[in-house]
Amino acid sequence: MLPSCEDLQLENKRVFLRVDFNVPLDKEGKISDDSRMKASLPTIKYLMQKGAKLIVASHLGRPKGQVNPKFSLLPVAEHLAKLLDREVIFPDAGLGDGLRKLASELEPNQLILLENLRFDPGEEANDVDFARKLANLCDVYINDAFGTMHRSHASTVGMLAFVQEKAAGFLVQKEVKFLSQLLNEPPRPFVAILGGAKVSDKIAVIENFLKKVDVLLIGGAMAYTFLAAQGQRVGISLVESDKFHQARKMLEKARVKGIPLVLPSDHVVAKSLDEASEKRTTLGQEITGEWMGVDIGPKTLEDFKNHLYGAKTIFWNGPVGAFEIPSFARGSVQLAKMISESNAMSVIGGGDSLAAVKVAGVADKMTHLSTGGGASLEFLEGKKLPGLVALES
Ligand code: AMP
Repeated sequence: MLPSCEDLQLENKRVFLRVDFNVPLDKEGKISDDSRMKASLPTIKYLMQKGAKLIVASHLGRPKGQVNPKFSLLPVAEHLAKLLDREVIFPDAGLGDGLRKLASELEPNQLILLENLRFDPGEEANDVDFARKLANLCDVYINDAFGTMHRSHASTVGMLAFVQEKAAGFLVQKEVKFLSQLLNEPPRPFVAILGGAKVSDKIAVIENFLKKVDVLLIGGAMAYTFLAAQGQRVGISLVESDKFHQARKMLEKARVKGIPLVLPSDHVVAKSLDEASEKRTTLGQEITGEWMGVDIGPKTLEDFKNHLYGAKTIFWNGPVGAFEIPSFARGSVQLAKMISESNAMSVIGGGDSLAAVKVAGVADKMTHLSTGGGASLEFLEGKKLPGLVALES
């Protein structure tokens, strides 16, 4: 069982809260999307309400164990202060005695945000000394960083050996609840839609889903590997020819189990992945000549709609076209709308699918928007996430 932060006595305790504030920054170093920060606000506010003394920690980007101002959490600290409307202490010193003293002198409701954990090579190496130093800052450990649960790092796994009390924050609890439901007891029929660029990223999820779903819809560039593996002509579409064997294996597994694995029956094709490129819609499944599939066509949308109709659970990860390019985004946006119009429990994962849901204006109609990225996919592959195992043991 995953312990919850609600089960702990928090008043006057120094609480180390691992969050995922790995936000995207624009060229000027400003936060371009603060969803990940907002996702952990309920946990932060709850802990403060309970009189905890908070030491919040995150990584940002890939500084590779070196101090690098480009990856400083300073803009995150400033933005957090605004979101919470209170002071955020942002110490610039490393994990030495100074910081320990600062943490021990915190008052209830005060909050420190540590500098980027990955400035120290000990974080990603899960170094014991670094883990012990982190643990020495606190009485209680809470993890609300679902997006890093698949990593065995000092702040997600190592330090837990040195703290007495540990629990999951609300974001982690929510992710685990919905993703577990997909794997264990999804209301049926359960329809999954997988898209995106590469079969290789999702092959393990497809394999696990063939044991769980009633229908599997596949779109995006990934579909061309499946079509080409069956001997279909796909023009100059993106394919992973080294994955033909696995694609055929999945198609065969689906056939044996009687699970419809639905591929696009028509496509929007273009000469290149360029907004200005000439484009057209194919009449059937074949793509000939120097054309590449860039989006699913209207017939496929209709097919997908028929499968989604009556679904009780829908999971979607990965756009069904080159969504970032507005003229190839229609399929993904329409799909988002179709899902929102269903009465199913809907779980959406992956940055591009979440963006499509936002562009379609239907984010609030989905049951759960999973911010977990790679961690969500590993969970859905059926793997045990080290960060969760450490919390549960
Ligand atoms: P993923 O990170 O695997 O979910 O893949 C997302 C990427 O897949 C996005 O950058 C999309 O532009 C890309 N993508 C989806 N469909 C296609 C396609 N038909 N051709 C090229 N890229 C695509």
